[in-house]
Amino acid sequence: MARLYGSSKRILVTGGAGFLGSHLCDRLLADGHEVICLDNFFTGDKANITHLLPDPKFELLRHDVTFPLFIEVDEIFNLACPASPIHYQHDPVQTTKTSVHGAINMLGLAKRLGIRIFQASTSEVYGDPVVHPQTEEYWGHVNPIGLRSCYDEGKRCAETLFFDYHRQCGLEIKVARIFNTYGPRMHHADGRVVSNFIVQALTGVPITLYGDGEQSRSFCFVSDLIEGFVRLMDSPGEITGPINLGNPVEFSMRQLAEQVLAKTGSKSEIKFEPLPSDDPRQRQPDIGKARSLLGWEPTVALADGLDHTIAYFRERGFGAA
Ligand code: NAD
Ligand code: UDP
Ligand code: UDP
Repeated sequence: MARLYGSSKRILVTGGAGFLGSHLCDRLLADGHEVICLDNFFTGDKANITHLLPDPKFELLRHDVTFPLFIEVDEIFNLACPASPIHYQHDPVQTTKTSVHGAINMLGLAKRLGIRIFQASTSEVYGDPVVHPQTEEYWGHVNPIGLRSCYDEGKRCAETLFFDYHRQCGLEIKVARIFNTYGPRMHHADGRVVSNFIVQALTGVPITLYGDGEQSRSFCFVSDLIEGFVRLMDSPGEITGPINLGNPVEFSMRQLAEQVLAKTGSKSEIKFEPLPSDDPRQRQPDIGKARSLLGWEPTVALADGLDHTIAYFRERGFGAA
């Protein structure tokens, strides 16, 4: 048992100092829970959680999920893993270890405690999809030996482990396949398209558009995604996922660049650069399952989410005179 007194839950968030993890910590604390935020600070930033440190219900644990962990909690959200291509390709072996060994350790912990565990999986399990939009039934089109494989195959193997622990040990699992998400606390230098374009526009350097800019993505604002996480975690036990969470409104990267330029009033030019290898051509979630099973759908339009994100980067000093 995690505690003798009280009815709120004690929840472990791995990767809790990262972009998504820190917003999840905020939300869980606001809902009255205790939060243990675990992070090795590989890509996470203490600044994302500094405001939570005075809260007696918040606890910070420096730990690497590739090593075993023995603590007592009521639920686990497993988010630890570098998520942007330049971060996960920095040390690809460690990326696969984080997904696979991290999943084994967190599943082992959940099994010992008999608790529910959530996995932050990804639309990358669909690879460069030939089915569009992507439904959860689609098995994907993934290169097993390319530059993105450490992330894609690591996340696919983690899903395998989650479902085998579920079948073999009766563990309650919640697997979310997250599509591109953006918002305040994205790392300014993680190379992801929304942060890149905004920082480039605010600082007046060229916007780097890869390939012909016609490849598409669907961008979900972070507050919408976190609502989806909580609904999935709190859903009835028989709902295991995998379940797509993302915004189905699709944009080309060229449209995104134009929108960022218009919103920031930037004079940056658009500079075309080569498309990275294995870059998916298109990506759009089918969120029918999330709608029907969780009553969830995104509410924040890209135009509004970009305003919040641009304001965040301005506050951080980008584009200051
Ligand atoms: P992020 O890089 O901001 O956060 C990841 C966090 O995990 C960081 O704080 C990092 O320090 C920590 N971490 C990395 N390796 C670790 C390890 N071995 N042990 C402990 N902590 C470790 O990325 P994010 O965007 O917040 O992504 C969070 C999760 O969501 C990831 O699992 C990612 O794969 C998944 N995801 C994110 C997106 C997105 O668009 N942001 C899309 C799909 C999936
Ligand atoms: N584990 C952990 N914390 C726990 C229980 C297990 O980190 O509270 C790790 C443990 O180190 C093991 C892994 O989770 O390597 C998988 O545990 P499981 O019980 O499934 O397998 P086994 O211990 O039999 O290898
Ligand atoms: N991209 C781009 N310019 C950049 C960064 C990314 O044109 O400065 C493109 C990238 O090639 C991809 C899309 O934007 O087609 C989304 O890239 P990101 O790394 O954000 O996410 P992912 O490829 O993992 O979906």
